[in-house]
This record gives sequence, C-alpha cells and structure tokens, in this order.
Amino acid sequence: MNYLSTRGAGAGERHTFSDILLGGLAKDGGLYLPAEYPRVSAEELTRWRTLPYADLAFEILSKFSDDIPAEDLRALTRKTYTAATYCNVRADESAAQITPLKTLGVENGAPLALLELSNGPTLAFKDMAMQLIGNLFEYALAKHGETLNILGATSGDTGSAAEYAMRGKKGVRVFMLSPHKKMSAFQTAQMYSLQDPNIFNIAVEGVFDDAQDIVKAVSNDHAFKAKYKIGTVNSINWARVVAQVVYYFKGYFAATKSNEERVSFTVPSGNFGNVCAGHIARMMGLPIEKLVVATNENDVLDEFFRTGIYRVRKAAETYHTSSPSMDISKASNFERFVFDLLGRDPARVLQLFRDVEEKGGFDLAASGDFARVEEFGFVSGRSSHDSRLETIRDVFERYDTMIDTHTADGLKVAREHLQPGIPMIVLETAQPIKFGETIREALLREPERPAAFSGLESLPQRFEVLPADAQRVKDFIVANTGG
Ligand SMILES: *Cc1c(COP(=O)(O)O)cnc(C)c1O
Repeated sequence: MNYLSTRGAGAGERHTFSDILLGGLAKDGGLYLPAEYPRVSAEELTRWRTLPYADLAFEILSKFSDDIPAEDLRALTRKTYTAATYCNVRADESAAQITPLKTLGVENGAPLALLELSNGPTLAFKDMAMQLIGNLFEYALAKHGETLNILGATSGDTGSAAEYAMRGKKGVRVFMLSPHKKMSAFQTAQMYSLQDPNIFNIAVEGVFDDAQDIVKAVSNDHAFKAKYKIGTVNSINWARVVAQVVYYFKGYFAATKSNEERVSFTVPSGNFGNVCAGHIARMMGLPIEKLVVATNENDVLDEFFRTGIYRVRKAAETYHTSSPSMDISKASNFERFVFDLLGRDPARVLQLFRDVEEKGGFDLAASGDFARVEEFGFVSGRSSHDSRLETIRDVFERYDTMIDTHTADGLKVAREHLQPGIPMIVLETAQPIKFGETIREALLREPERPAAFSGLESLPQRFEVLPADAQRVKDFIVANTGG
C-alpha cells in the first residue's frame, strides 16, 4: 500500500504505512491518504461478521499496512483490544465486544442504537485509536532503535487519551501542556494522577491557547525539535483514522443479520476524524446508506454539507459550548474528504486550501462538485445547548439511558435523518461523567460514575506548574530527557 499527499507533492515517491506513522502533515502541507482504497469482498464481509474485535481490526489494518509483518500486526491488535482495557464502564461479559451496540428503540420505523465507543481508559472514543497508536509507536520505535518525545496541548480529551495510550511504553515520553486550574476536577485528576515516569503533565499558567502557542513555538524551533526528537499525535495522524474504520464494520455487523442490509451512522463531529473513518469504510464497500455529520453551535461542517460553502471561523466566532470536544474553528481532517469529492485532483485541493489560508474558505456550490456529496452519502445537522439538554432528558426518560453532551448532539441530528427500515447507529463518543455540569443541568442529578473511577479525584497528583513561556517548557524537556 502506497500513500500520497492530498496536495500532490512527491507524487510517484513511495510512502509506506510505517513511513507516515510517526509523522504528521506531508511536506507540502497536505494530508496522507492511501493511493487507492482497498475493497472488501462479499466473502470477506461474511467471514468478518463473527470475528472478535481484535481480529477484525487485524483484517482491516492489514489492508492498509502491508509493510508490517502479519504476525506482528496481529499481536499488536490482540494486545490492544482486550476486555481488560475496555471494561471501564461495563464490567460484564459485553466488555469483550469492545464496542457493544446498545439498542434504544424504533423511531419513525428506524431501529435506533448507540455504538459504545467510550468504554476505554479515559471514557472517550479517542481511546479506540489512541490505544493502538501507543502499541504501534512502541513497536516502530523499538524496530529502529529510536525514541520519541510527544509534545501536546490539551483542554481535556485528547491529552488524557494520549497519556493513557503511552504510559509505560518504551522509547516514548509524553509532555502534555494543559491550562492550570482550568479543566474540570475529573479531567484534571484523570491526567495528573498518572504516576508513570514517562508521562509529564505541565500545568501552564494561562489558558488553552497559551499552551497551544507554546507547542507551536517549540515545534517551530527546528533545531530543538530534531535534537530532542519532538513529535505529536494529533487528529490528522493517518493511523488514528484507519484504526477508527474498524468499529464501523463492527457496528454494521451488530445491527444487521445479512450483508444485503444497509445502515446509517450519525457521528458527533469536530475535526472530521471520526466521520472520515466512516467515509473510508463506505469506500471499502461497507453497505452504509447515510453518514450523518452532527455538529454543535460550531457548525463549520454543517454549513458545508448544507450549502457547499466551507468557511473557517475566527477565534472570536468559535464558541465555548457544553460539548467542548467539538468546539473547532476548522476541521483538520476535512481535506481528506475534499480530495475524494474532487475526484482526487491534488492541484484543485491545493488551490482550495490556499484559499482557506488566504480568504478564509471556499465555495463549491457553484461548481458541479457539491452535487456529488450525495453520492458519498453525506448529510448533516447541528445542535445547540437547549436541544442538547432536551435530548439528554428525553433519552433518560424514554430509554433509561444517560448520554453525554456530544452523543446528545449526535442523537438530536440522527432523529432528523431517520429512514424507515434502515437502522440508525449513533456513535457514543464519551461518558456523561466527563461533562457532569451539563448532566446536572439537564437531569438535576449526578452523572453515573463507573466503579473503576470512584475516588479518582482524591488520588495523589503529579504535575509541574510552569509560566506560559516556551523557553521554560524547553528547559523542562531538556532536564527530563537526560539531554
Ligand atoms: C474528539 C471528540 C469528538 C470529535 O471527533 P472528531 O474526530 O474531531 O470529529 C466528538 N466527541 C468527543 C467526546 C470527542 O472527544
């Protein structure tokens, strides 16, 4: 399998899965995609239906990473997708399913279900891919005798998923910046209670943007970056996207009896990473009817799928909402879909994303391209704080099920796109305990706390407070890498 950049540079060069695993953007600023999508045969679809999650993950990943020996890849997926890692919410035998499907009911003739993706160690769907990344990184670094220092900034979900994926891994250290005293007590405790010597929590005296600016400043110091082997694990990482393809297959098999049936998925979306994996599953031949993109008040993507206009938001137009993991001003994986939508024409992609940088966006409505969105199955909708609260209440009363704010946005929008006879699967992206304040507002009660997390906030915490100063962060990295 060869990989190419959405912007076309280095066409004809060979990039394997391992080549792009530890990197981020392609040299030309584009994103990597496989040269073609592997198709799944009817025979494979039938055989895969009954596989355990880890073996299904192996079958799918091996189509994208033929440079990793099969026995190594199988060992990695079996080490990653275990009941022990995904039992944090359900301590019963369903944990072995890794992503159990929870049936809600039938609405407007459509069976409605939640695909549980947040049963991993940090109670958000990012664990699904990040746990595999941790094992893949360790494997790739050991193979080449290398080390990596991951530097990141987080306001919650991504940072903790990265830390829980990398804790104890050989050859990897994590330096994670977070805004001092600005995260919820639960999120803070989740990260800061880690005692692993390769995990460094840095509480920056400032807001999230200060932390992010420091990461940018350090990454732009190319000499420092090279000397201290600084890397990232952000949402454009290809391996993260491809690991997410697996649960679309798993969800399809759980919701259907035969491969003749079609299903739709609704995906609470921010950076377009999760739903991009759904698009890839569909391109591989999984019988997906609709891919429903659900946004919150930050509706960059909903606007595009309704109008053909992609308009990134300025900082002042980016709202802090009660589904904060979807508070984005632009969708960093969106370029991957645009590449396919435009018939894989890198020159046009380059021009459009230049327009994004120079003019703040582009308009595909006038050209014929936007009409093709339908062929790819995409539709969309948006939610708001009030409809979020309303949906959390309704699902609790009607189905005795407590959902988090992001999943509520998904369910709200899913209900606008139900088709009789076609199962609608809403991806559950986090547990309610992570967003307790809004749960209390909606339900006037405490969010459910999985037993594994009782007393989390009273565990001893390990973190370093630093001023919002890139030099001080560099000094800290130097002091802790034996450099
Ligand atoms: C990251 C995240 C999202 C958005 O996923 P994308 O891949 O960025 O579209 C949605 N919900 C939760 C809880 C998240 O952590």
